[in-house]
Amino acid sequence: MPELRWGPLRRRWVIVAPERGKRPSDFRAQSPSPTAADECPFCPGNEHLTPPEIARTPGPAGWAVRVVPNKFPALADYPELELGKKGPFRRATGLGAHEVIIDSPDHSRDLDRLPLEQVERVVDMYIARLGALRSAGRFQYVQLFKNHGKGGGASLAHPHTQIIATPVLPPEAQGRLSAARRHFAAHGRCLICQLVEEELAAGERVVEEGGHFLILSPYDARFPFELLVLPRAHSHRFVELSGEGRTSFARALQGALSRLSSLLGDVPYNFVLHTAPCGGDWPGIEDWYHWHLEIIPRLTQLAGFEWGTGMFINPMSPEAAAEHLRTAV
Ligand SMILES: [Zn+2]
Ligand SMILES: [Zn+2]
Repeated sequence: MPELRWGPLRRRWVIVAPERGKRPSDFRAQSPSPTAADECPFCPGNEHLTPPEIARTPGPAGWAVRVVPNKFPALADYPELELGKKGPFRRATGLGAHEVIIDSPDHSRDLDRLPLEQVERVVDMYIARLGALRSAGRFQYVQLFKNHGKGGGASLAHPHTQIIATPVLPPEAQGRLSAARRHFAAHGRCLICQLVEEELAAGERVVEEGGHFLILSPYDARFPFELLVLPRAHSHRFVELSGEGRTSFARALQGALSRLSSLLGDVPYNFVLHTAPCGGDWPGIEDWYHWHLEIIPRLTQLAGFEWGTGMFINPMSPEAAAEHLRTAV
């Protein structure tokens, strides 16, 4: 069963989940082996190959979007969170949830090529599942992410998105919360609201300026063609997106992904959502935190320097990346 471990050298939690890969052969370099549709557990007709369904959006194939538990969860449904300490080490039960959202019955079309109405259904399901896991009251954070392609960490080709709920606040969320809170304390306004204004004024990193969302290549991009999707109106929680905002977000997400695929082809990527945590005490968070989404094409490898220093070497300026992406539709 999974557990969380914390060590004094890095002061960060790590999830140890041995069920996800037990044998050394599981870690050997493998050539990509795309699953055929007839043996794909996410294809219609193969529903019996997944663990029991959590939710579905009805559709002509029986379903349009389907949510199932991850067969090899990184965190599990323990009855309660137990914390332990031994010498310099801390541990916690690997309490959490790990869900897979199957984006559509279509085995080969990712969000960039699905009809917009289907992307909207997927976004609705993101909101429904994030809302349900938030209100479970057992987790500190709920992380939504997508792994696309082998190089993006996807083990199944059929397009899907994942959610992992964690019993501790992950370091990345902690860092972003601290930065936003510090900025608000110093300047009396939300960091991302200010960023939206400044990036629009500068213009050179803006890829797409929609009515509700801004797509840009961040000033300090770590990777070529890294993108940020920022809501133009202030909101600390993704789950509060409603009606027209959902449609606009579906359009912005699809737009960003299709710009990447029309410029670069079917490249591996990850996207990750950054939204307010569900646990902890964050006074005034609705004023100073602003949710956002990051898209990271996986075109370069993290190498020795990055691992050693935590600093990234980006071989492409974000201004040049934005210029290329502006013309790619
Ligand atoms: Zn499939
Ligand atoms: Zn804001």
